[in-house]
Amino acid sequence: MSTSTMPYNQRTTLPPPPVPMRDANTACLPTSHTTKIIHQHQHPQQQQHHHSSSNTNQLSASDSRTHSLSTTNVAPTPCQRLSEMFRRSIAGSSIQSDSRENTYEEIYPGPDPKQAIMGSLVFCIHHKQGCTWSDELRKLKGHLNVCKHDATQCPNKCGAQIPRIMMTDHLQYTCTMRRTKCEFCQSEFSGAGLEEHAGTCGQEPIYCEAKCGQRVLRGRMTLHKSKDCTKRLRRCLHCNREFSADTLALHVNQCPRAPTVCPQRCEIGPIARADLESHLRDECKALAIACSFKEAGCRFKGPRHMLEAHLEANAASHLSLMVALSARQGQQIQMLKSAVSKLSINFTGTLLWKITDWSAKMAEAKGKDGLELVSPPFYTSQYGYKLQASMFLNGNGPGENTHVSVYIKVLPGEYDALLKWPFSHSITFTLFEQGSQSGQGGVAESFVPDPTWENFQRPSNEPDQLGFGFPRFISHELLYKRPFIKDDTVFLRVKVDPSKIVAV
Ligand SMILES: [Zn+2]
Ligand SMILES: [Zn+2]
Ligand SMILES: [Zn+2]
Ligand SMILES: [Zn+2]
Ligand SMILES: [Zn+2]
Ligand SMILES: [Zn+2]
Ligand SMILES: [Zn+2]
Repeated sequence: MSTSTMPYNQRTTLPPPPVPMRDANTACLPTSHTTKIIHQHQHPQQQQHHHSSSNTNQLSASDSRTHSLSTTNVAPTPCQRLSEMFRRSIAGSSIQSDSRENTYEEIYPGPDPKQAIMGSLVFCIHHKQGCTWSDELRKLKGHLNVCKHDATQCPNKCGAQIPRIMMTDHLQYTCTMRRTKCEFCQSEFSGAGLEEHAGTCGQEPIYCEAKCGQRVLRGRMTLHKSKDCTKRLRRCLHCNREFSADTLALHVNQCPRAPTVCPQRCEIGPIARADLESHLRDECKALAIACSFKEAGCRFKGPRHMLEAHLEANAASHLSLMVALSARQGQQIQMLKSAVSKLSINFTGTLLWKITDWSAKMAEAKGKDGLELVSPPFYTSQYGYKLQASMFLNGNGPGENTHVSVYIKVLPGEYDALLKWPFSHSITFTLFEQGSQSGQGGVAESFVPDPTWENFQRPSNEPDQLGFGFPRFISHELLYKRPFIKDDTVFLRVKVDPSKIVAV
């Protein structure tokens, strides 16, 4: 701020007087008079303003200087004299003494509009960016020279206009003309040069592109990928397939083409793992093979080439082993048969006896005296009496040659010891007519055993137990007249009823 003028404060109705030029050589204002008035009035507004100004000290010094000028009677300068003459000429002919009081307008001529504008209070143009400065317009330029929000040229001459507050940052990080170092290779670059260098620096550690997880210097990547990378592809020497380096060892352990030695140490030498099984099965000369009569009991075991000799030398003993085996198997078959027949035995108390090949059996019965057909045994209940029906196709006793005779026999059963004797259930024989429309017609005969009858006492184990029944059950005549025989088959039902009610 120059010392030549005093600020004009718009806030006062009566503006303070402008401070006169101090330089007597260039200014022609009536210095001494003005000085005197300043001295006399000591305007409070002016005082206040002086204090708020940064130039207070300077002004006070000037003030005291002017004051000393007025109090010591120094001769007026030529300019002062001129000014005085001018003032007196407009005041008229009457000479007014120096002591006359000047009017306010005389001392403060009307305010200069430019001065008034320059004195207006303004905010910094960067107020919105956060600058809180506010002062007279005339001071704005000066403030902008230091305002931290005002943009200035980058001192590196990169061409950027950067607010002062951002300059340090710019110079350090973003200025394209800054001098900087690559953090990896330590080479020096301008900012722009570094940006170009970034992404190509050979010293920068980067992750392997093959995703092996390793970080390798960019400059060594090619070498890494061909030599060290665990994900580089390598060929299996045995099967020629490609594997990543880290899985190759695992593969070779299982590679079907990898050579392996025969576990029998035969003379074949290394063979592919995949061929080992067929080698052992079909050709290995060292593998001990069991004699083919092993199941019959031969215990010989030896290499393939010795087996043939063994078979030739032992034909007779192999044969006897086979005979013994066959006998053992025959026993097993018998055991199985009886087990099966036990499982299939009838426990219902009703036997439906199907007799096939009737005509052949009849012919045989007619040619052979006393030929008896027996039914499969059956039980009256699960733990009941064991019974068996029998039939003489050509008749027996009184029915011989004319009738079919049917009988029932009590066989020795497994639970006889617990059963009630004599056997006293009623027995009904029914010979069915076949294909009859309304129910099954036929011939039926029943009886209830008499307790005195020999046949129904507890049976002994003697095989030739006698039966009881009907020697003239049905005549041959009736048999062929009605449809009892169909498809050369006859059905006879034998029903055992513990209720003793005779059902016909
Ligand atoms: Zn500012
Ligand atoms: Zn810059
Ligand atoms: Zn670098
Ligand atoms: Zn890698
Ligand atoms: Zn392989
Ligand atoms: Zn072998
Ligand atoms: Zn053998």
